[in-house]
Amino acid sequence: TVTNTATGPHHEKPAVWLDGNIHASEVTASVALLHLLTHLCTGHGADERVTRALDTRTFYVVPRVNPDGAELALSEVPFVVRSTTRAWPRPEQREGLIGGDVDHDGRSLQMRIEDPNGTWKPHPSIPKLLVAREPDEDGPGPYYRLLREGHVEGYDGVNIPSAPPLAGIDSNRNFPYQWRRFPEGEGFGWGHGDYPTSEPEVRAVVQGVVDRPNIGIYFAHHTYSGVILRPYSDRPDDAFPTVDKWTYDELGRRAEAITSYPYLVVYDGFRYDPKDVITGVGDDWAYDHRGLFAWTTE
Ligand SMILES: [Zn+2]
Repeated sequence: TVTNTATGPHHEKPAVWLDGNIHASEVTASVALLHLLTHLCTGHGADERVTRALDTRTFYVVPRVNPDGAELALSEVPFVVRSTTRAWPRPEQREGLIGGDVDHDGRSLQMRIEDPNGTWKPHPSIPKLLVAREPDEDGPGPYYRLLREGHVEGYDGVNIPSAPPLAGIDSNRNFPYQWRRFPEGEGFGWGHGDYPTSEPEVRAVVQGVVDRPNIGIYFAHHTYSGVILRPYSDRPDDAFPTVDKWTYDELGRRAEAITSYPYLVVYDGFRYDPKDVITGVGDDWAYDHRGLFAWTTE
C-alpha cells in the first residue's frame, strides 16, 4: 500500500490496483512492479506528478501473486509452469513427452532428431541454430525434428504427444466471470480449476479487490506478447457502455504512446482460437463485477 499518509489514509483516496506474475514464468511482471514501487517511493517530493499522485491517490501493488509458481519456474533447472504448483486435475503425471533436464546440464532446452522429413535445418553460418525448412525444399539436408528436452513415457513407436502438465491450473481462467468447465485438456480455457476462485492465489486477489472499494483501476501485469488488453474476452464491443469505451480508448491511446505496445480489445484482437473465447479472466471480472477500468498488460 503506497500513499502519502500525511494527506489522508489510504482507504479514503481513489486507488489503483496493480498485480503481476499470476502466471508463474512471467517473472518480468514482478520486476516491473518492483520498479514502480521504487519510482513511487523515490519520486515523492522529487517528481511533481509522483508527489501529486501519492498525495491524492493510493497504489495497491502485488508484485508476485503466485510466489510458489514463480519459485518453481526459477528453480535449479528452470522450466515453464503456467500457474500454480499443485497437481491438477490429476495427482499423477500422464503419458507423453515430459519435459526435463535429460543431459543434466542444468537446463531444460530442446532436442533435435535427424529426420529426412524434418521441418528444421541448420542455419548456414551458425549451425547450432535451426531455421525453418521451406515447404517445397528438397535436399540435401540434413533436416531435423525438434522436440522439447525430456523423456517419453508410454511411447507407442510412432507418436510423441506432449504430456499434459502435471500442474495444469491456469489461474487466469479461475476468476468468477463467465467461468466454464471444459472437457479435460480442451480449449484455451483449460486450467480453469474446480470452481471460480478455487485457487488460493485467485481467491486472495478477488478478496483483496473487493475489500478495497476505493479502487477504480485494475492492472494485471503479464509477460509474452507486448500488448495492452482490455475487456471483454468473450463478447464484441457492440453492447459495451459507450462512455466506458471512450474512456478506455483515450487511456489506451496514451498507453500506446508511452509504451509503443498496441492497445487491443481481447475479443477483437487477442483471440487464441477465432471460434472460441477465453473466460474466467481477471480483467473481465474486475470490469464486469466491480466496475473498474481493468487492463491486462501482457
Ligand atoms: Zn500471463
